[in-house]
Formats: sequence, structure tokens, C-alpha cells
Amino acid sequence: MAPAAASATDATLDAVAVGGGPAGATAATELARRGRRVVLLDRQGKPKACGGAIPPRLIEEFDIPDSVLCARVSGARVMAPSGLTVEMPIRGGFVAMVDRAVFDEWLRARAAEAGAERIAGTFESLDRDSDGTAVVVYRPADAPREAVPRRLRTRFVIGADGARSAVARQALPDIGDGAYVIAYHEIVRTPPVGRDGYDPARCDVVYRGDLSPDFYGWMFPHGDTASVGVGTARPGFALKESVRALRVLCGLADAETVRGEGAPIPLRPLKRWDNGRDVVLAGDAAGVVAPASGEGIYYAMAGGRLAAEGVDEAFDSGDPAPLARVRKRFMKAHGGVFRALGFLQGYWYASDERRERFVAICQDVDLQNMIWQSYMNKKMMRASPRVYLRIIKMNIAHMLRLV
Ligand SMILES: Cc1cc2nc3c(=O)[nH]c(=O)nc-3n(C[C@H](O)[C@H](O)[C@H](O)COP(=O)(O)OP(=O)(O)OC[C@H]3O[C@@H](n4cnc5c(N)ncnc54)[C@H](O)[C@@H]3O)c2cc1C
Repeated sequence: MAPAAASATDATLDAVAVGGGPAGATAATELARRGRRVVLLDRQGKPKACGGAIPPRLIEEFDIPDSVLCARVSGARVMAPSGLTVEMPIRGGFVAMVDRAVFDEWLRARAAEAGAERIAGTFESLDRDSDGTAVVVYRPADAPREAVPRRLRTRFVIGADGARSAVARQALPDIGDGAYVIAYHEIVRTPPVGRDGYDPARCDVVYRGDLSPDFYGWMFPHGDTASVGVGTARPGFALKESVRALRVLCGLADAETVRGEGAPIPLRPLKRWDNGRDVVLAGDAAGVVAPASGEGIYYAMAGGRLAAEGVDEAFDSGDPAPLARVRKRFMKAHGGVFRALGFLQGYWYASDERRERFVAICQDVDLQNMIWQSYMNKKMMRASPRVYLRIIKMNIAHMLRLV
């Protein structure tokens, strides 16, 4: 790391990460570890609405200890509109679950341990000093409404304040608001193991147009509780009624409801993540959630790390070009998976007839292994050429309705 640029005064921070979710906390940790003076600004509100499923690759790549996980899942039960149910065991692996209240706080504490300064407050606006330097204007969490907002003068801003990011809206007003699925889930108390078929080491994934017209329904076990939810991009869709029906399917109709909450899930990466000067977006703020699965935690952390690298390089060179490379690097690493999952969602989730066929092909053990390996390792896994060819032929036969 090079010393701080000469133009930065003592009162000027190197960076402010706005948002203390997986993206912002990871970005702040990385920058602090590189010796940068970074503030992590988070409004410290309610925990993020989230199913909490994370892959082993995240655990390895970001050094997540076992103590932060609330469950490990060894398979999924996938249900089709007809009621056809397919068991998909994870051979030689697992999916981990986190409680976001615990996980996010642990990530923020790690950022502070690395040297980031934590501030509890709400981002209000992005201002400029007379010399053009960015100023993050925020309201401290404990300040009365009439108090004058505080100001953080900073060389760089990482916008990691989630879907419908206020930082993105202000710093990149020309890129639009993005497209979203609205997801709603309920956290319920889980029954004793075995009651109503409940298995704390198995997820349920339900493909039914009446419950989730363009996404899927899920039940993810979290130990003493479980997340049961659905999503759709269709405005006005009765999400709460769907979750009620989903709970019946998953054997959790009578379980105590701890809370219910909804939030948008971005549908596709925004076309630009930086303002060509001193702001770069990461995570949901940049629109990076995998299509078809709605998985965003890993991609938020990967994006947060790349954003920190971009800021660090831009700081050293005095040239904002590395900020634009953040998106390029991300898409180079994950664009292929996003495209494949985008196709999967666009095609197989389009009607109940297709959902039925999709669940039917999930009976194939080689396909199951490819799906789980791709999820766990975050890259498209190929089987042997013979098996791969057979899976492609099976997909095509179903697409052409030959079977
Ligand atoms: C119902 C649901 C279920 C999901 N299930 C899964 C799942 O099982 N697995 C998975 O991988 N992904 C899942 N996702 C997606 C995942 O939750 C997100 O992709 C992920 O949280 C993105 O992380 P992030 O850090 O970019 O944003 P967020 O987690 O949204 O964090 C943003 C942070 O910014 C803070 N903030 C926002 N505005 C301000 C402001 N003005 N000032 C200060 N701070 C602010 C918030 O308090 C928050 O801490 C799910 C999403 C939903 C809605």
C-alpha cells in the first residue's frame, strides 16, 4: 500500500462504506486491512430479511467460523406443481445457514477489529466540498430529528446500502432504479425433529406458479427457527397468502410465527457501478443477486472485496479507472453463472408445465450433483463429456416436449 495521497488532509477519510451488510462490512474490513482510514456507516436497524443460505465457498473464502452458522443442511426436497417430490441429497458437501442478525453483526465487528471505525447512523446525502471532495452526510442513530446532520469528508465512497440504494440514486442518477423481485418470508419456530415430517437438515424448494409466479418458495431450517418465503416481480401478488400455503406444504402451518418481513431482491446487475470519480457500488446496491436462486450474500461479499481493491488501487494511482474495473472483474468471475441462471429462471420458471419438467429432470443424480457442486463452488461444474451430453440431451428433450 502506498502512503495516503498528499491532497488528503488529516480530516479527510480514505473511504466511507455506506451500509454494514455483507457487502459494506467486507469492503470496510478489506480496506482497513490495507491500512486505509475507513468508516463503516450503518443505520443499525432491523436485521435484513433473508433466508440465510450460504455456500461452503463463502465460508472458506471469507474465513467464517462455525460459531456464526446456525445450521448445516445436507439436502433439499424439491416439489413440483403436481405434487411430484424429488429428494436431492448433497453428496460430499452441505449448505450452511446463518441468522442475519448474528452474521451481519459479526462481520461489522470484524471490520472494527481490522481497524475500521463504526458509526451507527443513516446516510442522507452525498455532498461536495468547495474543492470537489466527497462528503457523506448522515444522521447519527441516537440524534434527535431536529439535530444538524453530521458530515464525513472522504476520498472514496462505497455504496453498499442494499437494494434501491440511496447512494446509487444520488451518485449515479442516470442508471435508473433497477428491476426487483419482492420477497416475503416468515421466521417460524421449528417443531421437534420428525413431527409432520420436519427434518432440520433439509431445505424445501417449491416450484408452483400459484405460490410464486416467477420465482420459487422455500423453507430453510435455522436450528430453532426456519425461514419460509416466496418472491415475485408481479406487483400486488398476495405474498402473505402464499407463505401461508407454503407453510402447510412444509408441515409448518401451526408453528409459532416469530416475525414476517419483506424486501426487494435485485434481478440483474446495474449497468454501471461507479461514477467515474470516487463512488463505487457493491452488493444489492449494484444489483448483484444470482437469478433463479436469489442468492446474494456471497456475491455481496465478493463485490465488497472487489470494490475495496478498486478503491485501494484508485487511491494509489490517483486515477479513478480501477473503480470501473470492479464491475468488469466481477462479471468476468461470475457473469457466466449469472447468464446460465438467468436462462434457467427465464425458461424453466415460465409456466407450471415447465416447472413440472424441471423438477422431473432434477431426479437425475448427475444433474443433482452438477447443481449442488455449482452452488457450493460458485462456478459452473461440468460432468464428464458423456454425462454432460446426456444431461443436455435430456434438457432438450423436455424443452421440445419429446418426453
Ligand atoms: C426474503 C429474502 C431472502 C433471501 N434469502 C437469501 C439466501 O438464502 N441466501 C442468499 O445468499 N441471499 C438471500 N437473499 C439476498 C441477500 O439477502 C442479499 O443479496 C444480501 O443481503 C445483500 O447484501 P448487501 O450487503 O449488499 O445488502 P444488505 O444486506 O441489504 O445490507 C445493506 C445494509 O445497509 C444498511 N443501510 C441501508 N440504507 C442505509 C442508509 N441510508 N444509511 C445507512 N445504512 C443503510 C442496512 O441497514 C444494511 O445493514 C435474500 C433476500 C431476501 C429479501
